[in-house]
Amino acid sequence: MTDQPSPLVRFAPSPTGLLHVGNVRAALINWLFARRSGGRFMLRIDDTDTVRSKPEYEQAIRRDLRWLGLDWDLEARQSDRMAFYEAARDKLIAAGRLYPCYETPEELELKRKARLSAGMPPIYDRAALKLTQADRAKLEAEGRTPHWRFLLTHEDVAFTDHIRGETRLHGGDYSDPVLIRADGLFLYTLCSVVDDIDFAVTHVIRGEDHVANTAVQIQLFHALGAVEPGFAHYPLLSDLSGDKLSKRSGSLSVEELRDELGVEPMAIASLLAKIGTSDAIEPRLTLAELAAELDFSHFSRGAPKFDPAELERLNARILHETPYEAVRERLKPYGEANEAFWLAVRPNLVRFADVAAWAAVAHGPVTPLIDEPDFITEAAGLLPPEPWDATSWKSWTGAVSAATGRKGKQLFLPLRRALTGLDHGPELAVLLPLIGRERVLERLGCSA
Ligand code: GLU
Repeated sequence: MTDQPSPLVRFAPSPTGLLHVGNVRAALINWLFARRSGGRFMLRIDDTDTVRSKPEYEQAIRRDLRWLGLDWDLEARQSDRMAFYEAARDKLIAAGRLYPCYETPEELELKRKARLSAGMPPIYDRAALKLTQADRAKLEAEGRTPHWRFLLTHEDVAFTDHIRGETRLHGGDYSDPVLIRADGLFLYTLCSVVDDIDFAVTHVIRGEDHVANTAVQIQLFHALGAVEPGFAHYPLLSDLSGDKLSKRSGSLSVEELRDELGVEPMAIASLLAKIGTSDAIEPRLTLAELAAELDFSHFSRGAPKFDPAELERLNARILHETPYEAVRERLKPYGEANEAFWLAVRPNLVRFADVAAWAAVAHGPVTPLIDEPDFITEAAGLLPPEPWDATSWKSWTGAVSAATGRKGKQLFLPLRRALTGLDHGPELAVLLPLIGRERVLERLGCSA
């Protein structure tokens, strides 16, 4: 028997904005990891910044995760957990690992510049450690309130990253991080570690931009008497020119992708699960397939490029493969909840909302395009009687061909233009029975 705990991972967004491509990728990779390993996925709302955090963003995050199918097994909100952060603070102070500092932001900036111009790394000089009790009392009497820094040990921190492999970071390369601001706000660096300890998170999976945090946080885990979890840091997405993804370069929010661009959740998941890995990016219809395929050893080390056009192409391919059962409910508002219609139109869809245009072709209104009225009238006279099925188109056009001698494009295009008002579209063999004889006659210019 092994006593490895069942994996617990977390997605920890700050509710200071909408979920976008970058942080959805974090949610997705964590979720897939949990599902693949029979573990649990936690949603943690990192909302200690009470000024920037907004309840409407928290709601939007939950809504967007649900829409993507990323359900969570447990959740926590950092603003509900202050007592735990206070207890950790007291423990660190008692251990001599948290110390008060009184510099103003301007003083810190001056020190930083001075160190840089002296050719030294711009890390905090620990001047506050030298303050005596009397110095501190004096500063406080002047009205200064301290911010609190964690005293790093200047030792190496080594861990085996599930993506980056053996990683060694040196504590002396970092400034002692501020854990509590002068206004009393507990900062992410501390809260995250306290939560990861309390909930027994087993794997922290996040972007490479957090590697430096990991060096500091591992020391915090130890200072709080805990063993650190496993870590996996994946390279962040870049835009097509290799720059950090920004809103302008296509870091779209899930809300825009869904509501404005009509992207299917599985198109987003299919792309974001595989981008930056050695696996081909192919349409997948279920998250379960993606979970089974997740493998950290397939992640590359370079920054993958996110191309919104790739998402669009994948979206179309996903729609083309989507079975009727998966869209039955969504077709109802278009009055087209029937399998024949779906199978006929899905190869023509770029986004689901295009269904509306094809529903209009089936049920009208359509503005027929008739260039050769005599031919069209002759064809109308040869329409077979109903009931119609998938063979009716063939028998009708066979009869029209026999009567007029027309074949191929000469035969089909004028009929298509008259029946649909378009030059291209779903197969008419499937559309014809959906349009029905009465409307077909109407479009051919003959009243039923
Ligand atoms: N709230 C943090 C962020 O969004 C969480 C990072 C982490 O996963 O530890 O960057």
